[in-house]
Amino acid sequence: MIAQVIINRNAKKLDRLFDYNIPVDMENKIKIGSRVLVQFGNSKSLEEAFVISIKEKSEYKVKNIEKVEEQTYLDIKKVNMAKWIAKRYFSNISDAINLLLPPGTTNRIVSNRVKDKLESYVFLNIDIDELISKLENNEIKSDKQKRVLQFLIDNDNVSLSDLMLFTDVSRAIVNTLIKKGYLVIEKKEIYRNPFKNKNITPDKSLELTKEQENAKKSIEKSIKEKRYQEFLLFGITGSGKTEIYLQLIEKMINENKSSIVLVPEISLTPQMIDRFIARFGEDPIAVLHSKLSIGERYDEWKKIKEGKAKIVIGARSAIFAPVENLGLIIIDEEHDSSYKSEMNPRYDAKEVARYIAKELNIPLVLGSATPDMISYYNAINGKIKLLELKNRANKSKLPDVEIVDLRRELANGNRSMISVQLYKEIEENIKNKRQTILFLNRRGYSTFVMCRDCGYTVKCRNCNITMTYHIKQNKMKCHYCGYESSALKKCPECNSDNIRYFGTGTQKLEMQINKMFPNASTIRMDIDTVTKKNSHEDILNKFREENIDILIGTQMIVKGHHFPNVTLVGVIAADSSLNIDDYRASERTFQILTQVAGRAGRGEFQGKVIIQTYNPDSFSIEYASKQDYKLFYNTEILFRKQLKYPPFCDIIIIGITSLNENLLPKVSNYIYNLLYKLNEENHLELAIYKPLPAPIDKIKNRYRWRIICKGNYNENINKILQNVLDDVRSKKVSSKDDLRINIEVNPNNMM
Ligand code: ADP
Ligand code: ZN
Ligand code: ZN
Repeated sequence: MIAQVIINRNAKKLDRLFDYNIPVDMENKIKIGSRVLVQFGNSKSLEEAFVISIKEKSEYKVKNIEKVEEQTYLDIKKVNMAKWIAKRYFSNISDAINLLLPPGTTNRIVSNRVKDKLESYVFLNIDIDELISKLENNEIKSDKQKRVLQFLIDNDNVSLSDLMLFTDVSRAIVNTLIKKGYLVIEKKEIYRNPFKNKNITPDKSLELTKEQENAKKSIEKSIKEKRYQEFLLFGITGSGKTEIYLQLIEKMINENKSSIVLVPEISLTPQMIDRFIARFGEDPIAVLHSKLSIGERYDEWKKIKEGKAKIVIGARSAIFAPVENLGLIIIDEEHDSSYKSEMNPRYDAKEVARYIAKELNIPLVLGSATPDMISYYNAINGKIKLLELKNRANKSKLPDVEIVDLRRELANGNRSMISVQLYKEIEENIKNKRQTILFLNRRGYSTFVMCRDCGYTVKCRNCNITMTYHIKQNKMKCHYCGYESSALKKCPECNSDNIRYFGTGTQKLEMQINKMFPNASTIRMDIDTVTKKNSHEDILNKFREENIDILIGTQMIVKGHHFPNVTLVGVIAADSSLNIDDYRASERTFQILTQVAGRAGRGEFQGKVIIQTYNPDSFSIEYASKQDYKLFYNTEILFRKQLKYPPFCDIIIIGITSLNENLLPKVSNYIYNLLYKLNEENHLELAIYKPLPAPIDKIKNRYRWRIICKGNYNENINKILQNVLDDVRSKKVSSKDDLRINIEVNPNNMM
């Protein structure tokens, strides 16, 4: 028998099937999905590969499979899913398969590891891209060293003991790599199992309101009829969506079926997990997220695989958990952009969930207070079933929202970041010993630095992006690649010292607040205060437990947290997300503002929200202040229709990057012409725009061009795009083979 395998290596050239002979003694061990070792090319070491299909004969002279892994993690269904992912998201099949394998992936794992509280963790001490190119250019010769470095490229949160276990190397190898400057070791407190030492009072199902009951019944019906159906559970914050999830999951457990619950990474807090533990206890729950160490992620994966966990709660990648007997998939905060991966394969967990739900004939429940425009469009057009919750379940009132016009503040001579109204409310709140959240959609002290005489701005030399000033280190930083330079005193272009710091950031806000309210305690949360050691969870716990007066933060504070004593939320400048260069700017603004507003007054006291803005007439700000999704939707959908944006068409971006700037116009135009021709010949009805440099035309020294197409994405277009990719890759346009081409449909990031 002959096995057709895919080599487990991330190289486009290898993304095809290779034939190998199955030796007789392996015949009953090798199945579709088996992981095997084979001799490949001139390489002396054996290569890992996956069996994709099995056939009688090969037309080639073939080598034997050398070894097969005892345990199989894949079956024909999973292999088919991997093929679908590879096709849908234009990735290699081996990359898609890797999504489905246990974290860390080898079978040499000892299951009961003993852990200290403080463990040594291993980090790369070299830029990842630099390392990848060193590996590609074969600058590192030792197989074991390569294995260690590759493992650290692929996995986060790797302890020294896990590293040695998973890659099967000795401490000496690690030491060599440290000496060479590739790695560093740091002691770190290991993530404690969220379930350990917890004393959670069990609770019982609540009696559902009429609205909740109706929604639940509708979903139960499709469970009973064993059919695929997609639901949009659209309910304002606090309307009791989570309670419905809990009761549906309970029903699943009674039928001995499992459920997957996806939540955005950032709202995957112990608080949220506690609600599930209170209802079901610790035993049937597995949690998957990136803060777990690689070893812990492996343990959770195994718990699921062995059927011990009936409820999987996790971020995006939990959709690939090896759940047996899956009966229900729930995606909470379904509008959240973190469900789309920005790494290869650039999958959308919502689409993958849909694929799985269809395959298994089970329901898919999407929940949100501010649904994605596309989901709501599909719901009111009958493509998915709309379930609506219009009232808060525990009868608490929505907060009062007030809009403050910052233009008028400026006209009245107030140049601070805090309007007169907001100042009064903060003062009042401090007096009443209640807590305040101030939300700023930016980080750093100042967003950019400019010479007032000649207009020079400081840009990153690797990325062509404006750099941000950080007051604490007195440095300029690039938020894309981490490049730092010293702060500017004189303009390098015209020598003027008339340098001005524009924009405002969280640090500056905190300084102003400390000056205005010297007796109030403040805590700040943004990318700079959240570090490996100081997690965002720690900051929020401190805010809650020590009853700190004012929390100042960015995006990170808006999701899923419950602070009963917060009665005031101030949005410092609602406009920042309006001014992003993206067709979803209004939608994002509406979602963020509605969510931030939802943080106020969740306890027994009435909440108040103040939104400061330079654009008080913008409809997304106005409707967010009314917390009226439908008004927002009805306005926005007209713009989308008029300008032909999703849901009325799809935007396909072909991104072309290279270290070689001169190569890009040539390749881009070649792709453009080829696609143009195929578009005509095949009647794809795509609108294809001429290739241009991307808005951010250089990141980490790679130049970036792109071609934008608009149309209704379908199988046919997918196939043609695959053909274009194959064609360009077979041409070897460049001698230095560093060209990368990505295709994304409706990507998160339009830059
Ligand atoms: P959502 O997920 O829509 O934000 P939750 O399920 O978290 O809403 O419910 C908000 C609050 O209302 C929670 O404190 C929850 O315990 C409570 N709650 C939910 N359903 C009911 C109900 N049927 N009766 C009483 N309280 C409820
Ligand atoms: Zn100048
Ligand atoms: Zn940079």
